[in-house]
Amino acid sequence: MKFSTLSIAAVLVFLSACSQPKEVNIYSARHYETDQALYSDFTEETGIKVNLIEGSSDELIERIKSEGVNSPADILVTVDAGRIWRAEEAGILSSIDSEILNDRIPASLRHPNGLWYGISKRVRAIVINPENVEDPESLTYEDLATEDWKGRVCIRSSNNIYNQSLMASIIESNGVEAAEAWATGIVNNMARDPQGGDRDQIRAVAAGVCDAAIVNHYYLAMMLTGDEENREIAKSVQLVFPNQSEAGRGAHVNISVAGVLKDAPNRENAIKFMEYLTNETSQSYLTVDNNEYPVNEDAAWNPILQGFGEFKADEMNVSALGRNNPEAIRIMDRAGWK
Ligand code: FE
Repeated sequence: MKFSTLSIAAVLVFLSACSQPKEVNIYSARHYETDQALYSDFTEETGIKVNLIEGSSDELIERIKSEGVNSPADILVTVDAGRIWRAEEAGILSSIDSEILNDRIPASLRHPNGLWYGISKRVRAIVINPENVEDPESLTYEDLATEDWKGRVCIRSSNNIYNQSLMASIIESNGVEAAEAWATGIVNNMARDPQGGDRDQIRAVAAGVCDAAIVNHYYLAMMLTGDEENREIAKSVQLVFPNQSEAGRGAHVNISVAGVLKDAPNRENAIKFMEYLTNETSQSYLTVDNNEYPVNEDAAWNPILQGFGEFKADEMNVSALGRNNPEAIRIMDRAGWK
């Protein structure tokens, strides 16, 4: 009797597995054409169809929350550890334990309990006017907050997640008090009130408005491969990876990130897709056009990144960026960072 109950259960499990559609539903806040090619290759390789829903990170999180247990979403893809943290806080992610992912992705670029995984990385670096900055190789984020830099720094507003995450990393490394002193120093040293995006800060350096700007590295890469006007601007400035001294912690790193959802209807397919994203070929696709760095250390860097050269990256676990986000916002507010 027991045996037959078991075998009926086994048959039922088998049947439900067979009737499950071979698909995976991705809610993505990343919009790149190369991502599309990646999806079709995955389907070709596995027979699993990829359905894509695009939106902003916060929109997608809200949508998944309101869809609740009936949400068709299997994977959430977004950029910045500070943003995936909001999904984590909303309780919509689920841990996965994949040897392949743990093997291919450095521990600092994934959630300690497998709630999300970095799929590519970006550096919040410094772009300088090489004529006005001595010894750029020794430059640190901390330097930009000192007296020497009065009126010479450009950076976008504090409501930007990239700056919040940089702030969060400084809290993690230097403590709350030093972080607040840093934010105040940066505000004092601003050449102008925060305005525009990262590319506007690079343009301001090139135009002589400021001598240094804190920006994500790929914006400079994008300009270097852009039209002639952008190329000229980009060539007149220099990218510096900060905090590179022997004792330095390295440049601040952030991630494009993916996590499997708690109510994912196609969990196994989702895990397969996550693993697929981190193989060497996928990693090149993911980073060839948007100039991010692969997380898989065996994957090649695109030529622009090779041109930027090797650098030391901060190895702090990026989960600190979300955890310290509320404190980062409070500090920037108190410092008067617009
Ligand atoms: Fe960006």
